[in-house]
Amino acid sequence: MVGKPTLRVDPNDSIGHTMTKNEEFEQAITKVLELLGEDPKREGLLKTPSRVAKALKFLTEGYDQDPQEILNQALFTTSNDEMVLVRDIEFYSMCEHHMLPIIGRAHIAYIPDGKVVGLSKIPRIVNVYARRLQIQEQMTEQIADAILSTIKPKGVAVVLHARHMCMEMRGVQKINSTTVSSALRGLFKSDERTRSEFYNLINTPTPSNF
Ligand SMILES: [Zn+2]
Repeated sequence: MVGKPTLRVDPNDSIGHTMTKNEEFEQAITKVLELLGEDPKREGLLKTPSRVAKALKFLTEGYDQDPQEILNQALFTTSNDEMVLVRDIEFYSMCEHHMLPIIGRAHIAYIPDGKVVGLSKIPRIVNVYARRLQIQEQMTEQIADAILSTIKPKGVAVVLHARHMCMEMRGVQKINSTTVSSALRGLFKSDERTRSEFYNLINTPTPSNF
């Protein structure tokens, strides 16, 4: 989707001016402003199309990123087979139905089977999937499956808590309702003890002096 700028001939331009993808983006956003009844030429809006284009590209940069590649860069051999948990990873995504923000936190655990991944890669994987147009359930599964197929652990657990602005700002306007989704694989699914250890750990409040 939002890839490198490509050149193409604008079908509306009779003199054959080639438009960059940036220009196409800006033109589309100018059109949206007009349709909203705004005047895209007024001072406050002059740079809005280019700002919006830039923001949208940043918020969807996950399309150009490969989770396998990111995880494979930082795989280490280990004899540790205890649960690794990274919790309270903040993320910002956009729902694919309304393109409105999804604001949430992710908790991700896995049980190594000979390999661990550098801890900083876990939040990066969350961002790869958050920075796309998403539905929460799908994002939860995608994160779990990326970790499963690359680190090949004995189990993976992913829990996302999120607020959906398409529910809060419009539609049912249910303020402060949180949607929780989970994806459990391997031992987290088959072993009750492992699963409850995980849920206990993510439900323990973070110490306030931390
Ligand atoms: Zn939505």
